[in-house]
Amino acid sequence: MRIHRCLFRPARALIDQKLDFYSQFNPSPLSMKQFTDFGQNATRTESYLFLRKELPVRLANIMKEFSLLPENLLLMPSTRAVQDLYCKSFGDLMEFEGKDANANLIDKFTDALTKIRNRHQDVVMTMAQGIMELKDAHRIDNNMEAYIQYFLDRFYMNRISIRMLINQHTLLFGDSINSHHHIGCIDPHCDIVRVIEDAYSNARFLCDQYYLASPELVVKHHNEHDKKTKYIKEAGKSADRTSVSVVYVPSHLYHMLFELFKNAMRAVVEHHSNGDDNIPPLEVLLVKGTEDLTIKLSDQGGGIPRSHMDLLFNYMYSTAPQPAASGMETPPLAGYGYGLPLSRLYARYFHGDLVLTSFEGYGTDACIFLKALSSEANELLPVYNKTCQRQYSTPIQTHDWSSQGHSAMFVRPFSTNSLNKLHSASS
Ligand code: ATP
Ligand code: MG
Repeated sequence: MRIHRCLFRPARALIDQKLDFYSQFNPSPLSMKQFTDFGQNATRTESYLFLRKELPVRLANIMKEFSLLPENLLLMPSTRAVQDLYCKSFGDLMEFEGKDANANLIDKFTDALTKIRNRHQDVVMTMAQGIMELKDAHRIDNNMEAYIQYFLDRFYMNRISIRMLINQHTLLFGDSINSHHHIGCIDPHCDIVRVIEDAYSNARFLCDQYYLASPELVVKHHNEHDKKTKYIKEAGKSADRTSVSVVYVPSHLYHMLFELFKNAMRAVVEHHSNGDDNIPPLEVLLVKGTEDLTIKLSDQGGGIPRSHMDLLFNYMYSTAPQPAASGMETPPLAGYGYGLPLSRLYARYFHGDLVLTSFEGYGTDACIFLKALSSEANELLPVYNKTCQRQYSTPIQTHDWSSQGHSAMFVRPFSTNSLNKLHSASS
């Protein structure tokens, strides 16, 4: 198989066998509650025994799916590099197969996980580069575009999940310093308002650098029990601290909010750039219901035409100018077209969602939905099975209504040089 060029022939054959074996198992999704219970009660031996099988299963599932991608894409240098990385990491994990746990072995296992995490640091960027290489070398038809979009969602989701498992193990049982009230990377009392404020102020910093202006923030909290909506932060004024918390991974929530704030700020400042009117504030409404926790970010940035709405979650769809290739001290505010699709994956990872509704000529509402109960926040994981295999061989349906189809994916692709700016998406 192509994916094992990195190994000598006998080792390749063995790895192929192991991939076939592990890919027969479905990944075992964990709920946030299971993560926290496990983090509080399990021993490092139990964690080792679980991950020793679960990580190869998750890797094998996605590696088998990887090899279903169109041949042309698999031949691109960057795509091959990504496959080689996965192959190497799978091989590293096979070293522990069937070995009884002892303190020394678990230390080695923990070190191996840290190495794997570091090795895969730039995978988002490298994979994006592989698609650019394909685009430069070949014409991409609608089928290929659909396969790639389908694959990237599943590939990046699988990557988020593997990093979650590795982070939990290394933070709980390795040398990494763990914040005392966190359980691995999970905050059992994740203060949503604090994460909103952090994401807002970091996005604002970029916005100020780029436009020399930025919108204020208003945060409201609606409490269903006393039927009251309360201002937590008013534009330009200091906060009246109300804490709304949920069991969550703060870095995931931060990632989503930071991307949404950057998008909203760009839209608002550009839409009000004639200087005649003041820049209207961004408004966040935070509601914790019995089932869902909703964070709605509303902007008055002019909105998005309905004809573009289907494109928003396509990788590389961007209306921003292409970011400069090098020499920028701060990352750009927009331009890669990865902000929304990756943020939606983070939201969906624990069975939440991210949805945009827009009112062209006025503004956009972006909603993050999270599960309010940790027992219902289950991992959403791609599974390698017959249904998934069919996706890569079934041509996309032709329309049975008259339509004006548009090719979504490569509307304004970014340059190969600027890909290194995707580093921020890799953590
Ligand atoms: P980056 O990957 O750096 O975030 P980007 O912002 O262009 O680049 P996305 O965040 O995925 O990529 O957004 C895709 C496009 O959706 C944007 O280029 C913009 O045209 C549109 N968009 C997203 N949010 C808004 C918004 N709040 N108002 C208006 N347009 C928006
Ligand atoms: Mg963006």
